[in-house]
Amino acid sequence: MRVTWTAGTLSFRLDPEDEITGKASDDYPVKLATNSCSIGGVPDDAHPDLFALAAWTIVAPWTRRRVTFDRAVSAELAEALHAGWGVEAGPVGALPRPQGARLAISYSGGADSVAATAMYPEAPFVHFQRVPHPRVPNRWPHYRSDVLAELAATTGHELSVVTSDLEYTLAEPRPGYPEHHAVAAGALLLADQLDLGGLAFGYELGSRWLGGDRYVGRFTPDNPMWAPHGRWGRLFAAAGVHIVLPVGGVSEAVTMRLALGSPLREQVRWCLQGTDGPCRTCGKCVYKELIQAAVERRPLDIPRGATNRARKWLKKPPYGGQEMVQYALARVPGIEDTLFAPALDYFDVAEEATSWLDHCYRPAVEEIPEAWRAQTASFVEANVGFMTPDEARRVETWGAWQGEEMV
Ligand SMILES: [Zn+2]
Repeated sequence: MRVTWTAGTLSFRLDPEDEITGKASDDYPVKLATNSCSIGGVPDDAHPDLFALAAWTIVAPWTRRRVTFDRAVSAELAEALHAGWGVEAGPVGALPRPQGARLAISYSGGADSVAATAMYPEAPFVHFQRVPHPRVPNRWPHYRSDVLAELAATTGHELSVVTSDLEYTLAEPRPGYPEHHAVAAGALLLADQLDLGGLAFGYELGSRWLGGDRYVGRFTPDNPMWAPHGRWGRLFAAAGVHIVLPVGGVSEAVTMRLALGSPLREQVRWCLQGTDGPCRTCGKCVYKELIQAAVERRPLDIPRGATNRARKWLKKPPYGGQEMVQYALARVPGIEDTLFAPALDYFDVAEEATSWLDHCYRPAVEEIPEAWRAQTASFVEANVGFMTPDEARRVETWGAWQGEEMV
């Protein structure tokens, strides 16, 4: 893979051994659509390791044996690429980037990043905004990324909006991040300007420790995307920007509760489709409504048109997010009279069976870099509480009943 940055535009050329269908770090297959993309709202004089890492979040799935950058990187960064992916990276010749002093939040506007903000109210936001690609038709005009960026601007927090069409480098399964870390590409290029030593993501317990989303669905202390000792964690650290997961130890029920109790409550938005408010009918809206109803202990409020969106949570587990479905089934009044009734057969819906999801898994706080750990720990102590050993065991035995593959 050969990588070139010119005035915010990344172009890359595949080497003969590279392939246009690759795999992201969660083993999800991704197909390449086009070999260039742009990032706006960033300076053009960042440390070469930051340019290299930003590029790697985009080109990693398609790179097999080597990656050649247009400017020399540090030996430390090249070594982290080799250790993590087995690729030869170069040219080598820069001094490593010293770790910066500040933590920024990769702010999406969803409940998880609002909860992270509650822990670090002074942290600046970097918001990623999708924009159209000049050469790829936009078949997703209903994605209102402009609405989310406008909401971020009303929070009153120090904000950098990064605009990018990098999601259109993916042909399949749909436009999106080639690696989950690509959401950070712009933040990385801003890291010198903002003096960043850490970047906080809103990944919660399910994503970090339970192998959730499109990953394996079992306990994942060595999660390759988010563990500090995993390949991405070590690569970010080599560039002097640590991956920080402030809400990595708590469930989506807790991040929802914290977000709804936050000064940013009115700005919380996880839906990409609504303009005046969430659409209430997309899959994400239905899932989050289930969690919100559970947290607020009120009946479910889902419009009729959304019924078919719930199908994925009515099938037999395992599936990503099932811990939250079980949590909600145990708490939403009248759930047996809703479209979720068939799911009741699959779970123990006694509240005690899911009360571990109301507390924080302590190792998640212990893995936060020391500079920011105490602030998370005291926030958790005051607002959430840590899991008991029995509750922690629920995390550590998660998925023991199933094989490696998600259904
Ligand atoms: Zn929606």
